[in-house]
Order: sequence, then structure tokens, then C-alpha cells
Amino acid sequence: MKFGGSCLQDTKSFEKTTQIIKKYLNQKLIIVTSAIKGITDKLIDFYTKSCEEATECDFIIENIYNIHKKIIDEIIDEPKLEYNDTLDFLDDNIEELSQLGRIVRLLRPSMDIQDIIVSYGERLSTFIFSQYFNSIDKDLKSQFISSDEIIITDENFGNALPILDECQELVEKKIVPILESDLIDLICVTGYYGSTKNKKITTLGRGGTDLTAAILAFCLMPKYNTKVIYWKDVKGFLNADPKISDKTDLLRQISYIEAKELAFFGSKVLHPVCLDVNEKRDIPSEIRDFNNPETNEFTSITKEIVRNDKKIKAITSIERLTMVTIESGTMISLHGTVSRLFSLLGDNNINIKFISQSSSENNITFGIDLEDSMKVSFLLRNSEFFGKQWFSIKIDNDISLIAVIGAGMLQTPGIAGKIFTTMGNNNINVRAIAQGSSELNITFIIERKDCKKAVNVLYTAFINQN
Ligand code: ASP
Ligand code: MG
Repeated sequence: MKFGGSCLQDTKSFEKTTQIIKKYLNQKLIIVTSAIKGITDKLIDFYTKSCEEATECDFIIENIYNIHKKIIDEIIDEPKLEYNDTLDFLDDNIEELSQLGRIVRLLRPSMDIQDIIVSYGERLSTFIFSQYFNSIDKDLKSQFISSDEIIITDENFGNALPILDECQELVEKKIVPILESDLIDLICVTGYYGSTKNKKITTLGRGGTDLTAAILAFCLMPKYNTKVIYWKDVKGFLNADPKISDKTDLLRQISYIEAKELAFFGSKVLHPVCLDVNEKRDIPSEIRDFNNPETNEFTSITKEIVRNDKKIKAITSIERLTMVTIESGTMISLHGTVSRLFSLLGDNNINIKFISQSSSENNITFGIDLEDSMKVSFLLRNSEFFGKQWFSIKIDNDISLIAVIGAGMLQTPGIAGKIFTTMGNNNINVRAIAQGSSELNITFIIERKDCKKAVNVLYTAFINQN
């Protein structure tokens, strides 16, 4: 089970988390926990301020200390052994953090030190939870595990990816024996971070605790029948963004391939990589509402695609997009244009959300995050190749992307026709279109002013016809 930061923020949420856990203790259970709500942001702030040599650092550290101290005081009774152990752990870790801040100020800032610093959020929250769990019932025992012992990643600090076979070896060596032992009822693993082969701490990207849970399930699946439950402060995946669509509905069952599309097109419910990891070993998973644990309204994600009369499962959108068009009458004769373009963007960490090229090869259109617009404009106009007179570069910042998603559109004729007729009937101008050959989605670009309208009319046309 994965518990996010909002499941660990005060006495009440600690109690709730424990109640949920207790219901599942008749099975072998591992929990993976995020930092206490808001702490990761504060740690990133601490790192940034340390780099700037600002005096605010001490203040931030004090604040982080106080938040944890208050929780410990509230949830663990003082005479108990666990109380002192937890306070000692907090003191030691806060001292290490202050030292790391000093190191950042002395040396040049680097991503690897940032990763060490932010990993303290999960280290603290998970240790506190584990001790709290031990303190409430003398017959229940948990074991704390720091995830750098079992999750091995590449060296991409800040956004690392796991090396799954190495994780599996370590999980078999370090987790399986505890699972097999009768002495421990619950294993508490820190989320969000791992380490490189050279034992440097890495983090898995924001929201990375989801991924830690998925990796553990992956590693355990060959030996146990494994399932992951992601406890969140939402019901599950919705079929449209409630900020944009007037109507939305919970997706009760969705396949991995469709969920991956949803995650890509703006739904921030799960860390996108964890779907891929779960899919590799067909691990069923659920997204459940932490505030309503008994409800049967939740999303379950499975390998199977549900095929019913609803060919279209969701209408999603990326509201703030920039569209870039590169035009040239001579693109045919200039070989390697596309490869140069995408290398340039890739080397500069620009994430491309959409690509379309007309068959005349006269232009290439692609979509990027609005935030990257200035950077891309600069890169293209200053590039040796694209800056030359052969190309004209158009950048349009008032753009949105709409994706119509559903594995049911596979081999179903007429979906694209219906989408574009609906757009036409509503006077919405479609600026560019792309469809992946997987036929899981049809994606197109419109002006931002039409975004809400487009989502709503498509929702009515495909999902909720009345
Ligand atoms: N604490 C980290 C974050 O806020 C990881 C997580 O919550 O999953 O991004
Ligand atoms: Mg979080």
C-alpha cells in the first residue's frame, strides 16, 4: 500500500492510516509512505536557499523540526520507549540536514546533494509512522526500511528510473525474509528515493512514492500474488478534468494501456512510470480514497480492457500548450531536419507533447508546455540550422490540446469523423491533428478559448449522451 503525504499530517490521519492497515493485516503487508504533507517543498526550499547562502535556512530547518516534533508529541505517549527513540532519530536527522546545508554553501550546488536533502522527508515520516505503529499495541510490530537499501536506480538525479532486476535481487534478499518471519506484522518502506550502484541517494521525481510501491510489487510478484493499493485524497481516475468539464464520472475499471494515456494527458493521479512497472508483471492495482476507505467507488487498474458500449473512456486536455510550426519549402531536400529538430529539443530537456507532419513535408508542427515556449523560441532562432532563412518559425502560445481516449476506438470506424463533426458543428477550429498508431487516442490542437467548450461537447457526444 502506498500512503501519500496527506495520510500523514496529524493525529487524525495517522489514526486513519492505522485503521486501514489493521484491516489488511491478515495478509502480508508492506506500506510505502511519502513525506509528511508539505515537507518535500520545504526541503527543496531549504536546498535552494542554502545555495543562495541565505540566512533563512536555519528558519526553514527549525520549521521542519517543529512540524515533526509536534506530530511525535501528539501521537506517541511520552513514557513509551518509542517516544525517545523517535525524538533521537529526529534530532540526528535534523543535525545531518543542517550539515548538508553547510556543505551546499561551501561546495558548488549539485543535483545529487539536492536528492540527499529531499530524501529526509520520507525518512522521517516513515520512521515516525513505524514507531507510532509499534507504540499503539504491544502485540503489533513493524520494521522500518530505508529504500536506498532496496531500490537501485540510474544516475538521473531528481528523476531517476529504477533498474528493476537489481531491485529484485535486493528485495529478495532483504524484504522476503522479513515477510516470511512471524515476528514482524508490517514493513514500512520509505517512498520516493533509492540509490545508485555507487550508493548515492537519488529521487524518483515528484510523486515518486507511487513508483516505489509499484517497484516493490514488481519485485515480489514472482514469489507472491501481489496487489498495490494507492491511497489518495481522490476517488480514483475521472473521465475528464473537473476544472474543465461540467460533468465527470469515476472510471471504475481501466486497463493499464488506457491509464497510461490518461496519465500522459494531464491526469496527475499517479506517477506515470508506475503504471508501466505494474503492467510489466500484470499487477492489479487500485486507487482508493483515503477519506472514504469503505466505499466501493474506486478505480481498479487491470491488464484487461473493458469492452462495452462506451468506446471512449475519457476526454482529457492540456489547457496550457504552445504550438510550434516549422515551415520550409525546401524541407524535402534538407535531410535530417526532423532528427536535428528533436535532438536539439531533447538535448535541452524540452518535453514534446504532440507531433504532426504534413505529408508534403512542408511543415512540422509540435506541441510543448507553455512554460518552455521562450526557451524553444530562443533555441530555434539561434540554431545554426533552423535560424537560417530556409525556415519560418511560428509560435502560438494560446493553444490547448484535447485527447479523446479509449482502447475501444481500435478498429472502430467513424470515431475520428464524429469528433471532427462535433468540433465543426460547434464552430471550433482544429489546428492540427495526431493519432498514435496504437489507436488508443486521437489528439488534436485547438485555440485555448475553445478548450472548455470542446471538452464539454465531446463529453456529451461520446460519454454522456443525455
Ligand atoms: N514527497 C514526494 C513529493 O512530494 C514524493 C511523493 O509524495 O510521492 O513529491
Ligand atoms: Mg506527496
